[in-house]
Amino acid sequence: MILPPATLGMLGGGQLGRFFVAAAHEMGYKIWVLDPDPNSPAGLIADRHLQAAYDDYAALDVLAEGCAAVTTEFENVPADTLDYLAKFVPVRPGASAVAVCQNRIAEKSFLRDNGLPHGPFAVINVDADIAAAPASLYPAILKVARFGYDGKGQARVANAAEALHAFHAFKGEPCVLEQMLSLDYEVSVVLARDENGRVKCFPTVENRHTNGILDVSIAPARASACQRDAAQEYAERIAERLGFIGTLAVEFFVSRGELVVNEMAPRPHNSGHHTIDACVTSQYEQQVRALCGLPLGEARQHSASVMVNLLGELWYDGGEPHGRYREPDWSLLHAVPGLRLHLYAKHHARHGRKMGHFTVIGSDADDVLAKALAAR
Ligand code: ADP
Ligand code: MG
Repeated sequence: MILPPATLGMLGGGQLGRFFVAAAHEMGYKIWVLDPDPNSPAGLIADRHLQAAYDDYAALDVLAEGCAAVTTEFENVPADTLDYLAKFVPVRPGASAVAVCQNRIAEKSFLRDNGLPHGPFAVINVDADIAAAPASLYPAILKVARFGYDGKGQARVANAAEALHAFHAFKGEPCVLEQMLSLDYEVSVVLARDENGRVKCFPTVENRHTNGILDVSIAPARASACQRDAAQEYAERIAERLGFIGTLAVEFFVSRGELVVNEMAPRPHNSGHHTIDACVTSQYEQQVRALCGLPLGEARQHSASVMVNLLGELWYDGGEPHGRYREPDWSLLHAVPGLRLHLYAKHHARHGRKMGHFTVIGSDADDVLAKALAAR
């Protein structure tokens, strides 16, 4: 076991890293964050911020030398970086698990090879792959295989001609072409898995997206108990097959009553933010525990919760780009009983950028949902 006051390393300095730093600090650890952005939310509160690129090997040497173990909050860290660090220190999750989750082609192939439910798709490497894709895929979504997030790197296409146009707009980057599914709703499962394969699963969460970005998460999900359990079983199977150590999130679609895996994230997840306020152990503390070889904490949810994301457009009066930049009036949110506000200290608000969130907790799920939607 790695015990305090050991120093832990974090690759990536976004809000997920910031919550990890906060959880680790509470537990008595020191944290070094590696992120090229001088204003990264996690870097601002870390014990040391290595301001360097993810493939800067001199910086990686410093990190490996100074830290007892290293984790990531960002799935696009190059797998080579994780492999390199793993020569010197424990790296959790490992490069092979992250490599699957950071590439939609590898991810879809993994689901198919492991008998996990997924939607119809085709791999698009060259123009001819579009011509060869079955017409039954349309209407479809073309997604770049790497580096997409919050709906970026995606195009909705009605037919092969539009798919070809979008593929060229993505500069011929490898893509997956997915059938557009009719969604009843979306759910996700966040779990933690330790080095001995023991798993603690948080209750299944229901997610509402707006313009491809998570808007509201309702926990526990209002899906049938049978569907909630099935989602957890699939997520556990994925973690086991990946040999995953750390906090993992699996996003699902429920389409015509059927659960379909959408994608995985090898890190804590936006739809698990509520675990800070509504569960015995947060997804971030679980990441610390799995990284350090501590027993995983209890994942039980003690309160019903609804999480609402706060995006950059809230910072503009009359809308971006012509509106006036101003800080929203937080006193209104602080006055709502059971509401907890979390702001990420990002220096600039941009349209669609995740700037913060709030969670409303309480004993009655309907009441919590009504309060959260009213506060929005
Ligand atoms: P990201 O990496 O941006 O989260 P996702 O693949 O999860 O990418 O897509 C974002 C959102 O877009 C999903 O949560 C869902 O609402 C919608 N979406 C994505 N793929 C499909 C699909 N095949 N059918 C219907 N909706 C989809
Ligand atoms: Mg997603």
